[in-house]
Amino acid sequence: MSRIIVAGGGHGGIAAASLLAKKGFDVTVYEKKPEEDLGYDWTDIFDPKALGEADLPMLPVTQFEYKEHMTFYSPNGRTGLRQQIPPEKLEIKVERRDLYRHIIKTARENGAKFEFECEALSPQIAGNRVIGIKTAKGDVYGDLVIDACGLDSPIKKNLPASCGINPETGKNNQFYVYRAFFNREGDEEVKDKYKVCLFGEGILGISWIATEEEYTDLLIGRFEPFSIEEAQRAAEYYRKDNPSLGRVLMRGGQFVKIPVRQPLSKLVCDGYAAIGDCAYMTVPIIGSGIANSFRAAKMLADTVYDDADGAFTAATLWKYQVKYYSKLGAGFAVLACVKEALTVMTPAELDYLFDNGVITAKDMSIDADTKTILDVFSGNTPGSVKTKVVSVVRDPVLLKKIMRVGAKIAAVSSVTASMPHVYSKKTVDLWVKAYERTIGKS
Ligand SMILES: Cc1cc2nc3c(=O)[nH]c(=O)nc-3n(C[C@H](O)[C@H](O)[C@H](O)COP(=O)(O)OP(=O)(O)OC[C@H]3O[C@@H](n4cnc5c(N)ncnc54)[C@H](O)[C@@H]3O)c2cc1C
Repeated sequence: MSRIIVAGGGHGGIAAASLLAKKGFDVTVYEKKPEEDLGYDWTDIFDPKALGEADLPMLPVTQFEYKEHMTFYSPNGRTGLRQQIPPEKLEIKVERRDLYRHIIKTARENGAKFEFECEALSPQIAGNRVIGIKTAKGDVYGDLVIDACGLDSPIKKNLPASCGINPETGKNNQFYVYRAFFNREGDEEVKDKYKVCLFGEGILGISWIATEEEYTDLLIGRFEPFSIEEAQRAAEYYRKDNPSLGRVLMRGGQFVKIPVRQPLSKLVCDGYAAIGDCAYMTVPIIGSGIANSFRAAKMLADTVYDDADGAFTAATLWKYQVKYYSKLGAGFAVLACVKEALTVMTPAELDYLFDNGVITAKDMSIDADTKTILDVFSGNTPGSVKTKVVSVVRDPVLLKKIMRVGAKIAAVSSVTASMPHVYSKKTVDLWVKAYERTIGKS
């Protein structure tokens, strides 16, 4: 049976290791951190159906609760739009460390092996093929390397150009995030328990203040790195309107990065497949990537079993890319255009769209389904943003910016739909060029 190396213990990598080990593959996960330090000291939100889709059991009921709906606030703080999520699409909130323990336990029961405190340094290459990884503890070789090392994967970054995988994340494509749990001040009922502030203080970025019983969770996300002093200053700013946000740091309090861009243009090459943040599988505007990584793990594992000869070439692994883009990636590429529009908008323009009902609670409740995104942002239906923009917006500059997004969404949808279903180096290279050109230089 083929030997599979999973570099990095990301969610998608562990889920893929679990699925493949269950099918009898010899799978080892190489993770740089010690087992007990895996994950961050905070909670995450994701769609629990993704666990079942990756053949992972549901978490015990004591380890999760259903998430509060988010309320999106305009930069001036005047308009708050509360999401409308149908019950079947409700997400759960779970401690990241509990989730990691849960999936590692399942992966081990299925036969996956783990090497902790083993940093992957670079790929091992023979010709154009990835044949293993160099680690801090020595070289390891395998038939397939699954790269789950996250946003700054040293495997992806050191692939030869001939593999055709572009390792540059690009400007405005990653969020620099400070996240901390502070004590929950006061005991009065908070109206919007999960408040998301767009361009708070007029600074390009997104922040949230989520009030829990025991603590208040603060996240500050920006497109440029910022200092701890700046995070503290911004926290003070949010305290003015959010008295539940105390000053005693209880958990977290560190800086991290999240990709917020279109998925990687090429997920595979000979002997290699990228998954999770390494392949930019997060939802571009909000940065959620756990459920997508689990779903991608199932798509990748199915592609691997289907490769009966164990060739694991770009051609045989391409099915994984086609499945990912058709089920999720094409929708995220469209959402990346919406995110890009946000980065060129002024706070006053965004206020205008919120305050005049151009963007509504329904628009903020979309999921990654390409059709609904297209309807909302570029369709000609009565409720679409495009239709509302044409009838409401009088400012020609804003109108032009929004119409440009509509046009870009249509072009990106068309290029993702034209992705070749069968691999040939020439057609795939041409498609990758067209995709990167249409969506813009990363
Ligand atoms: C503040 C914050 C909040 C988030 N909240 C949510 C949320 O609520 N819901 C949600 O769905 N998603 C959330 N995300 C995104 C989510 O964490 C990721 O999308 C998801 O975990 C998939 O990423 P990953 O596992 O591929 O990457 P990572 O989480 O970055 O994991 C990569 C793993 O590889 C290891 N690694 C890295 N380099 C090496 C190396 N050289 N050698 C060996 N191992 C290596 C790391 O230690 C890590 O364990 C959040 C992210 C952040 C930063």
